[in-house]
Amino acid sequence: MAEISEKIKEIEGNYLEENKEGLSNDDILKLQKKYLKTEMKNLYDLLKLVTDSKIKKDYGRQINELKKFIEDGINEIKENVETSKKEKDSYDYTILKRNIKFGKIHPLIKLGREIEKVFTNMGFAIVQGPEIELDRNNFEKLNMPAHHPARDMQDTFYIHDPGILLRSHTSSVQIRTMEKIKPPFKIVSPGTVYRVDDIDPQHTPMFYQIEGLVVGEKISFSDLKGLLTQFIKTVFGDSTQLRFRPSYYPYTEPSAAIDMSCIMCGSKGCRTCNYSGWITMLGAGMVHPNVLEGVGYDSEKYSGLAFGLGLNRLALIYYGLSEIRKLYENDISLWEQL
Ligand SMILES: [Zn+2]
Repeated sequence: MAEISEKIKEIEGNYLEENKEGLSNDDILKLQKKYLKTEMKNLYDLLKLVTDSKIKKDYGRQINELKKFIEDGINEIKENVETSKKEKDSYDYTILKRNIKFGKIHPLIKLGREIEKVFTNMGFAIVQGPEIELDRNNFEKLNMPAHHPARDMQDTFYIHDPGILLRSHTSSVQIRTMEKIKPPFKIVSPGTVYRVDDIDPQHTPMFYQIEGLVVGEKISFSDLKGLLTQFIKTVFGDSTQLRFRPSYYPYTEPSAAIDMSCIMCGSKGCRTCNYSGWITMLGAGMVHPNVLEGVGYDSEKYSGLAFGLGLNRLALIYYGLSEIRKLYENDISLWEQL
């Protein structure tokens, strides 16, 4: 009765061909009826014709194995169909699409990133420093020893531990960088700084600065002038004029305050520029030799330029706002216009 063996193989082959993914409930029922009823009945009918009890027993075992194999397979398909049906039911496809607002990037951050891009395009690396800083990095190493009168101009918030404070300028990153790497390099460092300033329309005790430092051989004041002119013209347009005035910072010599022509009034004079036609945008200068020597650089060989700009003030002009406070009022409707 080799016929039974062949029949078993044939049924198994056909079943495997028909048992595929994506069957409907009807298909599964048909499969069940065809293989577990009709085909099984045919096999048992053939088995009845076998007379040798040993052979009969062997075929009987083979038929039962096939039956079990098909039953398990069909149960598995049923379970899969059930699971995917449940998954589908957990979605409500009729629900209306909602426009969820996640807010806007803060205008200061947005402008800060644009400015960083201007400098990275000029080959600067971006360096970050901590807001809680050592007195030595914030003052001492920047040519402002204890009791230096210039410290008064940058009075800040002190932490209980002696010698630790909230940084009053990003210039502390200059020291951290110079103590780590050797010239030549060009860095900018954006970040939050703190001062015990009166709160008025133009001042807040916390504000954002961007610090720049270039150190190398033969860095001169004309490099500083060219660099800052390029920067201001890139941000505010080619027609913007710059004015360099003598100024004083303990960590630069010579030092300059840099004004730009008022873009609010076209230099005719308005409230923003205090009717002068000019707005002070940056503080800058050539790095003081004491600062270079203090971090172990040879000030005969290396020179450097440094600049700092208040991002809040820049944002005020850039966005045409009347008060710095507006930047901290969480007024999203205002930000959406910026
Ligand atoms: Zn003006």
